[in-house]
Amino acid sequence: MVTAEVFLKVFPSGWTWGVLAGVEEVTHLLEGLPVDVDAFAEGALFATHEPVLTLRGRYVDWAHYETALLGLLCQASGIATKAARCKKAAEGRPVISFGARRMHPALAPMIERNAFVGGCDGVAVVKSAELIHEDPVGTMPHALVLLFGDTVAAAKAFHECVDPKVKRVILIDTFNDEKFEALRVAEALGGDLFGVRVDTPASRRGNLLQILREVRWELDLRGFDRVKLFVSGGLDEAEILTVNPAADAYGVGTAISNAPVMNFSLDIVEIDGKPLAKRGKLSGRKMVYRCPSCGADQVLPEPSAAPACPCGASMAPLLLPLLRAGRPARPLPSTQQLRAAVLEQMGRVSL
Ligand SMILES: [Zn+2]
Repeated sequence: MVTAEVFLKVFPSGWTWGVLAGVEEVTHLLEGLPVDVDAFAEGALFATHEPVLTLRGRYVDWAHYETALLGLLCQASGIATKAARCKKAAEGRPVISFGARRMHPALAPMIERNAFVGGCDGVAVVKSAELIHEDPVGTMPHALVLLFGDTVAAAKAFHECVDPKVKRVILIDTFNDEKFEALRVAEALGGDLFGVRVDTPASRRGNLLQILREVRWELDLRGFDRVKLFVSGGLDEAEILTVNPAADAYGVGTAISNAPVMNFSLDIVEIDGKPLAKRGKLSGRKMVYRCPSCGADQVLPEPSAAPACPCGASMAPLLLPLLRAGRPARPLPSTQQLRAAVLEQMGRVSL
């Protein structure tokens, strides 16, 4: 009988926190095996050197699932964390996941589910949205503007034909200057125009914040102050922070879908009740405790009692039963519940 644990030694890209994701799929992967599994809640923040999942059983009963188990956690957690970073950078503005087109289609539902869990407000792929019980989100394509040969003609056609429940967000960077195109579509659609999308190509971009400020100024001056500015095109959390002063919403693609993976490893820490681990790894079963008040964490050898936090509050265990003898030991939250839990924790961390 062995105990093994999943933990991370170093965050990618200089990150200092992660959002654990992929737990639901791990539950399904290990369900039915003669193993006991404890894990953090999906969506919980984690730090390096904290076991986020522990597994007890005969090695031969679960060893061949190790690669799949790690693959499920590593990529999902990387995507959820990157999405959470973008959402935090956006300071309350909506962030839509647009990056499925950069990855193999078979991965799109996984990518978008975890982008949503990490805090994205919507996903673009129809199937992905269906699987998480959300309506897909998008805008008109550049192709529509090209086929009509004019931004306003495309905007009018879109407005005439598309379901009224879809917000009218018109692309304004296809042919001409963003400022003048924004004014043309605002005058053409009037109060029906919800927003304009600035997807300016990198070769024309110059100072994106200044372009947005100029569009905002000209719209406001003519009474179109309710028209939102939706920004997309190669954005990440750093650029979001730069353009926040003039942007109202974001579409983020490659930065989220191609997020760095979390290099979780799975190591044996105890064999037949005796602590034993390879070099570079702390042996023995452990528990991670978190302070509900200040968010501080502590890792203690098992068995242990919940410690008191230096801040005065009593800490709570984070590794809770996920499977007992192969049976699910707790309900699996909806993606909406997971997303809400991630957003609730974002106040405790910084970029
Ligand atoms: Zn505390």
